[in-house]
Amino acid sequence: MAVGGEARVFRPTDAEGVRAALTCARAEGTRIALRGSGCSYGDGACGTGKIVIDFRDMNRILAFDAQTGVIRVEAGATLRDVWQRSLPEGWWPPVVSGTMEPTLGGALGMNLHGKNAHRAGPIGKYVTSLKVMFANGEVRDLTPDGDPDLFHAIVGGFGELAIILEAELHLKRVYSGQIEVLGLASTHLDELFAQFREHEADSDYLVGWIDGFAGGKSLGRGLIHVAWQIKEGVDPDPKTSTSLAGQQLPSRLFGVFPKRWMWAAMWPFSFNLGMRMVNWAKYVSGRVLEHGKKYRQSHAAFHFLLDYVPNWKWAYKPGGLIQHQSFVPHANAPAAFREIIAHTQKCGMPTWLAVMKRHRADPFLMTHGLDGYSMAMDFHVTKSNRARLWAMCHELDAIVVKHGGRFYFAKDATLEPKSVLAAFPRENLLKFAAFRKELDPDGVLATDLYDRVIAPALRLLDADPGPT
Ligand SMILES: Cc1cc2nc3c(=O)[nH]c(=O)nc-3n(C[C@H](O)[C@H](O)[C@H](O)COP(=O)(O)OP(=O)(O)OC[C@H]3O[C@@H](n4cnc5c(N)ncnc54)[C@H](O)[C@@H]3O)c2cc1C
Repeated sequence: MAVGGEARVFRPTDAEGVRAALTCARAEGTRIALRGSGCSYGDGACGTGKIVIDFRDMNRILAFDAQTGVIRVEAGATLRDVWQRSLPEGWWPPVVSGTMEPTLGGALGMNLHGKNAHRAGPIGKYVTSLKVMFANGEVRDLTPDGDPDLFHAIVGGFGELAIILEAELHLKRVYSGQIEVLGLASTHLDELFAQFREHEADSDYLVGWIDGFAGGKSLGRGLIHVAWQIKEGVDPDPKTSTSLAGQQLPSRLFGVFPKRWMWAAMWPFSFNLGMRMVNWAKYVSGRVLEHGKKYRQSHAAFHFLLDYVPNWKWAYKPGGLIQHQSFVPHANAPAAFREIIAHTQKCGMPTWLAVMKRHRADPFLMTHGLDGYSMAMDFHVTKSNRARLWAMCHELDAIVVKHGGRFYFAKDATLEPKSVLAAFPRENLLKFAAFRKELDPDGVLATDLYDRVIAPALRLLDADPGPT
């Protein structure tokens, strides 16, 4: 286990259950961590020694209007629950992550982004109203226009300002259960960026994969996928393609291998040389089989690649994995990502999986989104590399900060408070701290992430008088 520890878990089925957990925590002098499906890579949903409210039994779809595409759900409903209800009626979530397991509460707690981040921004932009409970048990309805400051602080506020009970959001109209995908291989990082630039204006979805082992002139080689929604009238049988059967992920990979055992097949490759081979094979097969080719894929297959391989994280056993995701303004991103990849190689800990996306700025207070690019990198944790890996991530953070970048708390296990202060605008941090004092003066809501890095950063901020 890379992060986390033991906690007592409450699984409420309604708002009164959530209130009971708050009352219990206050009576005991314990604190509370909110948790959806626990898909955050670091300690964002962990509450070591605390009470954890697990929302997965509060997962009803309260209303869905197939005319307008507006859906209202409880916080524990997952992206899977949403699309499985809406797609057969021609609606798809406006933003989804690389897995369909996140709950709406967790998705909004981190304000997740998808492969359409360059066009659509984060999921919070599509929320029309929220029902929240504050740490004192008060329940309120919020809208982005009625309470703009509070709304844009709670969404992406890591579950530290309020508890989301219900969310209403606008889904996206689709006219087919499939999307059109183009694969493009690139021989080095500059070419990869050029392909992103070429397609960012005309694509609906855009995502790049980088071979983290390739160095020298090939550093940053990879594969991008550009995808477009299918326009109205093009799919001859949308009823079939939008049916749940049309979205089924295959139970066998390559038609042979049961996917539930894929993690075991990956396990023998779970060391640097094995992963160098896997990355090389992915690059070569992408170049030969995909480059310049267009094909159609179901929404589920395109978006939820990792859901193909149940328990894929077991391939990283026993130490697990951490992710490092940096967001860098567009002008600096090529230099920053080059330096980051080269540094991981120099340290002997190249990333086993690197994914690049294009983003845009958004109005959320603690947002990771900016007009630039992100690179998410997976790192294997072992007993012997743990200290070196954490130290390397701190060095990567310094590179990101030097290039004016930011971080994403859903993907963090290693960030230091000083890097948070350097990366996020001071006035945003001050505003977040002020909301926290006002809404939760006793500090009842606190995940391990909050204790590890956010609270210490806010304390440093308090001690620093700032520019005079
Ligand atoms: C395979 C994989 C792929 C991923 N791909 C992406 C991606 O493409 N883009 C992306 O942005 N992220 C991605 N992620 C990260 C993931 O989408 C986010 O971490 C998301 O927040 C997880 O949702 P969850 O329900 O598991 O929330 P958790 O991880 O359980 O919690 C996330 C945060 O929300 C808070 N929270 C939970 N419930 C509530 C509530 N009811 N009210 C208020 N706060 C609450 C928690 O305290 C925590 O701070 C990926 C993760 C995995 C494992």
